[in-house]
Amino acid sequence: MTETPTTHARTRSAELFGRAQALLPGGVSSPVRAFKAVGGTPVFFASGKGGEAFDEDCNRYVDYCMSWGPLALGHAHPAVVKAVQETAAKGTSFGTPTAEEVGLAELVTQLNPRAERVRFVSSGTEAVMSAVRVARGYTGRDLVVKFDGCYHGHADYLLVKAGSGLATAGQPDSAGVPASMTSTTIVLPLDDERAVSDFFAQRGREVAAVIVEPVPANCGLLVQRAEFLQHLRAECTQAGALLIYDEVISGFRLGPEGAAGLLGGEPDLMTYGKVIGGGLPVGAYAGRREVMEVVAPLGPVYQAGTLSGNPVAMAAGCAALTALRDGGWERLEQNAQALEAALLPVLADYPVELVRVGSIFWLSFQQPAPRSWGAIERSGAERYKVLHRELLERGIYLAPSAYEVFFVSAAHTPAHFAETAAAFAAALPIAFGASS
Ligand SMILES: *Cc1c(COP(=O)(O)O)cnc(C)c1O
Repeated sequence: MTETPTTHARTRSAELFGRAQALLPGGVSSPVRAFKAVGGTPVFFASGKGGEAFDEDCNRYVDYCMSWGPLALGHAHPAVVKAVQETAAKGTSFGTPTAEEVGLAELVTQLNPRAERVRFVSSGTEAVMSAVRVARGYTGRDLVVKFDGCYHGHADYLLVKAGSGLATAGQPDSAGVPASMTSTTIVLPLDDERAVSDFFAQRGREVAAVIVEPVPANCGLLVQRAEFLQHLRAECTQAGALLIYDEVISGFRLGPEGAAGLLGGEPDLMTYGKVIGGGLPVGAYAGRREVMEVVAPLGPVYQAGTLSGNPVAMAAGCAALTALRDGGWERLEQNAQALEAALLPVLADYPVELVRVGSIFWLSFQQPAPRSWGAIERSGAERYKVLHRELLERGIYLAPSAYEVFFVSAAHTPAHFAETAAAFAAALPIAFGASS
């Protein structure tokens, strides 16, 4: 496999980033896009098709960031583009119920029977905030248990991950969050049934909800044992608390029933984002009818949105979920296996482990791969920085952080996987220096 760097100068990206920095804090609309974790200048993508994206300087990349997860079908999937164009031409928002939201709700509830009722919102963050409010309203309790390393969007009371003090109220991770906002958030370690039991033995009756990413994919990919998830279900049931699966990444990516279908587990509520909108801003929360019926206008839990259920976004979601149902998920799994098969021989000589759950991948710089945030050795980040840069120069785009996962789409091809393997083969010796 001969290999030469495929990209040329990113002059326009650099120029745009200069302008952006004078206008947007850090030059971005979301912090991790700024490349601070890997160094260098962010790449400004201008277009994409299938598994490839093109930057403002016309460099081509095989894209494994895929907008951080939404694009399970790849860029500019024809059915999604058509749905957006046709729906937008009829008007972009009405503030009334529309046929499109009924269509997406039918798909969601048919694909995943755990979703008996669904409410659409505009982001994953909103979906999680609302689901937690529902759980609190339904149970009449305040405490929310989350796990160290799990990300649930940027709601004040969930911006906590410091799990040092077991079973103590969390400290905020972000400035601007009063300690009082996180005083009802309890942070426990993943992969630790004992810690959960100990906490529930003391305060289980105060818990409104346990929220977990069933496939934690925002701090590396911390694959949980099915027993751990079953344990959460059992403790919640016993204490009268609700179990929320945050499926914002995993929902409709890991098949019709998401992580719950793949790993088992019976959450009371699920939150969605990313894939459900086919690349447009959509979130949703869904679950048991009895629980969801506390939401206004049926019940006392208020939650609303001017652009919620936006018809253009709903149409994109319908087109995406329909294409996934009609062969997309099979293709996604085939592609994930093909990428894994291409990378494993190349990675074999290095002290890394390729972690994969369906089409979600992560490169762990320690073996065996960790299952909790506390178990991650931070030294991997330095190697990732070099690896990321070298892959970028070879036209392979991974998320710009060692702790972010990467995604294959249904639109990637065998040629992409061969190209990716060749780029890794060239980049790994540089990332590991002579010492490997
Ligand atoms: C991305 C993500 C969120 C937040 O979704 P946004 O659409 O970015 O607000 C919440 N939970 C999980 C698990 C996520 O991956």
